[in-house]
Amino acid sequence: MTHTGDVIQYRVFPTEAEQGFNRAIRRIVTAVREILRAADLPPGELAAVGIGCAGPVNPRTGEINNPYTLSGWNHCNIVEPLERELGVPVCLENDADAAALGEFYFGAGQGAESMVMLTFGTGIGGAAVLRGQLYRGVAGEHPEIGHVTVAAEGAACYCGRTGCLESIASGTALAAAGKKFGFGSAAEVFAAAASGQPEAARVLQTARAAVDAAIWTLVHTFLPARIVLGGGMVEAHPGFFLEPARAAIARATQIPRDYITVAIAQLGNRAGLAGAARWAMLRAQPEQKHHSEVP
Ligand SMILES: [Zn+2]
Repeated sequence: MTHTGDVIQYRVFPTEAEQGFNRAIRRIVTAVREILRAADLPPGELAAVGIGCAGPVNPRTGEINNPYTLSGWNHCNIVEPLERELGVPVCLENDADAAALGEFYFGAGQGAESMVMLTFGTGIGGAAVLRGQLYRGVAGEHPEIGHVTVAAEGAACYCGRTGCLESIASGTALAAAGKKFGFGSAAEVFAAAASGQPEAARVLQTARAAVDAAIWTLVHTFLPARIVLGGGMVEAHPGFFLEPARAAIARATQIPRDYITVAIAQLGNRAGLAGAARWAMLRAQPEQKHHSEVP
């Protein structure tokens, strides 16, 4: 990708984490070199490499700490070997943070001073970009917005609490709630509700209230200029998520609500690529940074 966000070359290959970390490093190095050759660019034109990876990751050390979906890579440092092989700065970010940066720079967050992004898919991810900077909590981690409590008597969450946004409004949660009534997936719940099936409609009503409560909490906590909603479920049912988000903001009396806009993410699963690449470039070339963009 160029500095202006134009994608010059694009490759997709499976992670195959189970085949070992060293093999993955070799494949990434090979892919980067192939991309440069295909784009007819000399290796010296490579400015930086950005990585958006399923978290938890440590952006400061470059270590992946994800024993669940990347078990063979747990506690592996992905930044050091790639910097050694490729000779450029390498930047590691959590995939949700990378997607938020992508939307902030090139998508639905453009022009907003501050932005909070929520991603509704199998789970629920979140990230905040405040004045051009990724908001980081302690240990470099992003906030876990999926585990904000949205219902006093809500469904049990794997985090140990009940009533989390993720335990009510994620794809996994909708499928679990729908299963009691014979639905096989979140998509089936949506389809049944659309055809007037009352149990499916009730499941969705609970999820809708959870989205409303979460947005209420987020706008009062961060007071962002823009809320960006993304992920597979939002792509499939944008109105279902937009409506409660806007309704929550419209009820707010203690904040300048008219300055807050809600938008649907624009970049799909390319947001993470664009954000990771842009972020790596900004960090690699300090002379090009705008002051407010310094990580
Ligand atoms: Zn939870």
